Formats: sequence, structure tokens, C-alpha cells
Amino acid sequence: MNVLVVNAGSSSLKYQFFDTTTGSVVAKGNCERIGLDGKITHKQLQSGKTYTAEIPMPNHAVATRIVVDALTNPEYGCVKSMDEIEAVGHRVVHGGPYFFESVLVTPEVIEKLELCRDLAPLHTGPHLMGIAGCTEVMPNVPQVLVFDTAFHQTMPAEAYYYPIPYEMYEKYKIRRYGAHGTSHRYVAGEMIKLLGKPAEETKIITCHLGNGSSISAVKGGKVIDTSMGLTPLDGVIMGTRCGAIDPAIVTFIMEKEGFTPAQMSDFMNKKCGFLGVSGISSDCRDIENAIAEGNERAALALNILNYQIKKFIGSYTAAMGGLDAIVFTAGIGENTSLVRAGALEGLDFLGIEIDRELNNSVRGKLTKLSTDNSKVQVWLIPTNEELVIASDTEAIVKALGK
Ligand code: AMP
Repeated sequence: MNVLVVNAGSSSLKYQFFDTTTGSVVAKGNCERIGLDGKITHKQLQSGKTYTAEIPMPNHAVATRIVVDALTNPEYGCVKSMDEIEAVGHRVVHGGPYFFESVLVTPEVIEKLELCRDLAPLHTGPHLMGIAGCTEVMPNVPQVLVFDTAFHQTMPAEAYYYPIPYEMYEKYKIRRYGAHGTSHRYVAGEMIKLLGKPAEETKIITCHLGNGSSISAVKGGKVIDTSMGLTPLDGVIMGTRCGAIDPAIVTFIMEKEGFTPAQMSDFMNKKCGFLGVSGISSDCRDIENAIAEGNERAALALNILNYQIKKFIGSYTAAMGGLDAIVFTAGIGENTSLVRAGALEGLDFLGIEIDRELNNSVRGKLTKLSTDNSKVQVWLIPTNEELVIASDTEAIVKALGK
């Protein structure tokens, strides 16, 4: 099946065009500066032909039309006409308490997604615009939503409730939802296959470490806990996000600096993390380079991350009552050996032993990092969220009998 996977942001629309029979991406690209001016960057992967243009994109519908034009272009496209686009799968950041699996877009689904606006204000609006854009341009093509929160919906209540008055949960749906669920689901699924035992018997910790990072405990193939919370601000230190901090720091800084709630939110999301601690950059590559030059604050930023990952591994091992495997994925997890080695340092008491040389040399490809003596397997598994979105979309659309 030909599936267009769409990731709509406030001023961007990233896309990948999948042939699900081979599981391969045929073309991909990005529309940027939607609502400002507009630029498309497109690539047909088989021929390697590219197309870049600056075209006015006042809204997501116009951007979608431009994407469809690129996909059907005789020179750099990949299909003859729009009729060959059989389905669209959307990445959706937050499904609130309403969505625990991928769904077909219907008017009722859109109504429920509207209720998620408060939970992910920066993302839900753009997603709705992306869906509306596709509906306008391809009215007869079925669309499926795949939620970043869905995989985490199996958490037990004690893992997802916050110790605040229960009315806050009832009134505002404040609870732990987690994020990066599609990535955690993909790598956990791959890890279960690698372990070669029934999913029900597996205990896995998945570390999605990128610009945003989250760690999940996946027991029996189901998430029982995850580090991100109501929003993607919770958990470990990130590029510019602080992760979990003493909640009293929030009011303390607001009072001292005279910040409004919006300014404080901006501060915690954009000024903290690697950037705030190191004073250098949010990018782990810059942090690594600075460490190599002897910068102590850069080393502190990375040490905080490593220490926090280690603590999550310890607590999730306790929560699951054991551990079979740890997976590292996403930009940092796949590329930064210093983090993988640092996080696992001293965990030999859990039966974790990695091949240090291999760990130092490997990047971005499926690799078993643990030694054959290690009781716990440690793997680098490159994530593939788009493939999950394409597969879910295909399954749901096929079930419609289309
Ligand atoms: P992500 O959000 O998954 O794209 O991850 C971005 C983070 O991965 C940034 O902090 C990058 O510095 C880090 N990273 C480290 N090495 C690489 C690499 N070779 N390619 C891409 N990202 C990298």
C-alpha cells in the first residue's frame, strides 16, 4: 500500500511516502515556513532526484497540495496521480486519555482530538490543520492518526497519577501520559524479536535519547512506566528542557525573576537542559566537542544525563522485578557512545557488561553492545517511527476493505 506519512508542525509539514509492501520510503521531504512564505525540499529516493522551491504556503492545505504535486511530478515524483496515494498516516503528539491506539479519522475522532489542545497546545492545533489540509486536498483518501502517547496507555494508575488532589485529574486530565510512544513501541518490538522469547516474559528498558528524551519500562510488551509526564518536559535533562526538577524551583524562579507563567514555561522548555547547564549548546555533538576541549560545564551536563539514565534503569528494573534488555535509540542513543557507556557504568551488579570498544566505534546501526557474558542484553536499535505509522495506517485502512 502507498501511504503518505505526515508530521505536521505549526509552520512545517514533514512527509515520507511509503511502499508498505517493501517497508521502504520512496520519497520524502519537508515544507517549511508555512504561514510565512513557504519552501519545499523534496527527494525521490530511488533516483536521488531532488526538488527545492520557494512557493507561497499560506496554510497547511496549500502545503499539502504542493506535496501532492511533488509526489505526482513526472520527473522527481513517485506516483502517476493522486489516486495512487492510498492512505495518509499522521503523527500526533498527544492523544490525552482518549486514544490508546491508532484510529481512522472520523468527525468524532476530530472532536476528541480538539479536547487534547490544552494538553499539547504547540502540537495539536498544527496536527488539526495538517489533517484538514489533507481532507481538503485528498477528500477520498482515508487518514489514520498514530499517537505518541498511545503506547504508554497501559501504565497502571500508580505510575500515571500525580500526588495532587484527585479533582485536578478529573477536571483537567492531569496525569502522566508519556511521549515518543511510537519510537518506544518500535524499538521494544524489535528487542522482543531479538530476545526470541514470548513477549509476555520480557522486561525491557527503552531509552529514546534525542533532543527530547524519554525512558520507558516495557514489561510483557506493555509500558508500565515512562519518564515523560503530562508534557514532554518531565524526565531526564534534554537539549533545552530541564526535565524533572523540584516543583518549588518553578515558583522560586518566577518570584525572583518576575516571570509570568508563559515566560516560566518558555524558560523551562528553551533555556535549560544541556544549553542551560553548559552555556554552550543544546546539541550533544557540541557538548561532546566541548568536553574534548576540557570544558567542565559541558562535562557536567552530560554527567547529569548519564546519572539520570542510570537511576531510571535502576528504578525501572525494580519496578519490573528484573531486566532482560536495554535499548538505546534516537539521535544521542544511536550516536553518542559517551552517554551509553556513562549511563551503564557501575551497573555490573545488575549483570550488565558491554563491549567498550564496539560501543565506542558504533553509530546509527543495529548492534548488540553487550558481551555474551552479560546477563542483560544491551542493544543500539535505530528507531523508525514513520514505519510504525505507515504499518498502522495500512492495517486500519485494509480492515476497512479498501
Ligand atoms: P534527535 O532529536 O533524535 O534528532 O537527536 C538529536 C540529538 O542527537 C542532538 O543532541 C544531536 O547532537 C545528537 N547527535 C549526536 N550525534 C549525532 C549524529 N551523528 N547525527 C544526528 N544527531 C546526533
